[in-house]
Amino acid sequence: MTLCAESRTLKPAGACGFSHGGRGIPVTTPLRDRPGGQGSKARPVSWLFLGVLALAGLIGLDAAARRGAERWALSEVRVAAEAAVGLRVAMLRSEIEKQRTLPQVLAEDPGVLAALERPDEARILALDARLDVLAGATRAGAIYLLDREGMTIAASNYLTPESFVGNDYSFRPYFRRSMEVGQAEHFAFGTVSHRPGLYFSRRLEKDGQPIGVIVVKAEFDAVEEEWRRFAEPTYAADERGIVLVASEPAWRFRATVPIPEDQRAEIRASLQFGDAPLDLLPIRPAPDLPATVLTLAPPALAGQDFVEVDAPVPTTGWTLHLLAPTAPSVALATTAARSLALLLAIAGIGSVGFWVARRRRLEEEREQQALARRELEARVAERTMELSAANDRLRGEIEERRRTQVALNEMQDELVQASKLAVLGQIAASVAHEVNQPVAAIRTFAENARQFLDRGDESTARANLAIIGDLTERVGIITGELRDFARKTPPEISRVPLREVIDGARLLVGHRLRQGDIVLDVDLGPEEISVAVAPVRLEQVFVNLLQNAAEAIGERAGGRIRIEARADNGRVTVTVSDNGPGLPQEVREALFMPFVTTKSTGLGLGLVISRDIVAEFGGTFGAGEGPGAVFTLTLPRA
Ligand code: ADP
Repeated sequence: MTLCAESRTLKPAGACGFSHGGRGIPVTTPLRDRPGGQGSKARPVSWLFLGVLALAGLIGLDAAARRGAERWALSEVRVAAEAAVGLRVAMLRSEIEKQRTLPQVLAEDPGVLAALERPDEARILALDARLDVLAGATRAGAIYLLDREGMTIAASNYLTPESFVGNDYSFRPYFRRSMEVGQAEHFAFGTVSHRPGLYFSRRLEKDGQPIGVIVVKAEFDAVEEEWRRFAEPTYAADERGIVLVASEPAWRFRATVPIPEDQRAEIRASLQFGDAPLDLLPIRPAPDLPATVLTLAPPALAGQDFVEVDAPVPTTGWTLHLLAPTAPSVALATTAARSLALLLAIAGIGSVGFWVARRRRLEEEREQQALARRELEARVAERTMELSAANDRLRGEIEERRRTQVALNEMQDELVQASKLAVLGQIAASVAHEVNQPVAAIRTFAENARQFLDRGDESTARANLAIIGDLTERVGIITGELRDFARKTPPEISRVPLREVIDGARLLVGHRLRQGDIVLDVDLGPEEISVAVAPVRLEQVFVNLLQNAAEAIGERAGGRIRIEARADNGRVTVTVSDNGPGLPQEVREALFMPFVTTKSTGLGLGLVISRDIVAEFGGTFGAGEGPGAVFTLTLPRA
């Protein structure tokens, strides 16, 4: 017999060791130590690890659920058994109490006393019959009357083969004790009936003297029969632990605790339990369950687990034991708990799986995004490099262009100057002539002034000197103009009246026009027109045009040049026309091409440079249609 730890219950010896408890841990522990078991980098290993972990968890959960359910079911069984044991005690006690009152009643019965005092046959027979009826009615095993010597004089079973009548029960403890102290209770195995029972005995007295003993034997067949109808094996044992009443007949007169050999021999000698060997009940405490039972007989109970509860049977020294089978409740609770655990586990595994899969997906998305971002950044960096290279190239080109432009501008300036000097060569003679005239006049007026002074005509001399001053001024203006024209002038824009520019040009080419008898018509409209130009450069344009026109008119009579200007919407349109032969065809076809000239001494640059000068001011320069040559300029109005 093995006693399991924490046991208040019994279990078959072979079933000791609750096999499934705590097995989950050893399974999972090595898995935790597996290399790469927890790694999330190697994906297949990770899934395998999760799978093993889930399996281990499942096993652990199942074990825990079983253990928990078992404990819960056992406690439930115990609660039910404690209620049941109370009922069983009540049943047994009511049977005992019922039988216990009988000897008291019969001890006072006049019929019983009369039979002892006057034991004639008719009286005895009448008592026998009464006892028989009484036993039948109270379900007593037997009721019988002993005389003071212990001889049976009347018995309820007087008609049966095992009739007690005539038997000597003076050796029975209940007789001796009743005779001594008045009453006794004694459980014993019937020597004649071979049926066990509880004997209640009471002394009968006459005038204070004992005259006999009335005995009621309570048998518990009916109680045992009742108990057998329940699923829980039940038995009642006396103070020594010997089973007296049991739902399993084979357990009767077995011991719940080991009885020492000498005590056992003594009991056997007393024939209290016949020749019953008083062996131990076939019950083993369970090793790890609160209560289990191993029964050898009947075999149907062998190996089953039970919760044992006990309760004292009041008014006796007995203890009633009830063995409540655990299997149905445990099986039910275990199945329910395991199902629930399985459901929870599936839900848990599902959730974890979902969570892991979701995390994976997010990680993958993040990785893809990071990759895409890196690619994009690389492309942007590459493109930025290309762009900055292109930018550098462009900057270089812009710088180059700027330098070229500067060089071009310088060249342009040089060209303008060259063209101007070329014109200057042509106009120098006429300007010299223009100057010569006042210089000759000055000489004459000076001579005259001296003579007037000699004559004392001071006022006339003074008038002559004033004329000389005017003439000198005129010469100064002409030479000044010539000097300004010859100077290399910067193309700086300023606001200047158009008339001033045209007058300047007229001054330079005036002699040439007069030489050819050419009339210059200038019509600048009613109001003064100012333009935003570089004045000397615009003057160069007009000098060119007037010079060309004069040359084209040549010796023709009635030569006429007309300059007409009109201001309109911020622009000034100037037309320079002549009544010469007009532009030759070849010049018209290659107009504004450098070096196109019909003159033997010409450079073919005048028109080209005039157009460039006007373009510099933001104006236009072109040739129009007319009987002679027509040139049209537009200039920004100031
Ligand atoms: P150049 O005077 O040195 O020849 P230009 O560029 O000033 O150079 O003139 C180019 C040519 O255009 C002249 O050679 C001439 O044939 C023609 N031309 C210019 N102005 C006139 C004009 N008013 N009438 C006729 N032909 C003209």
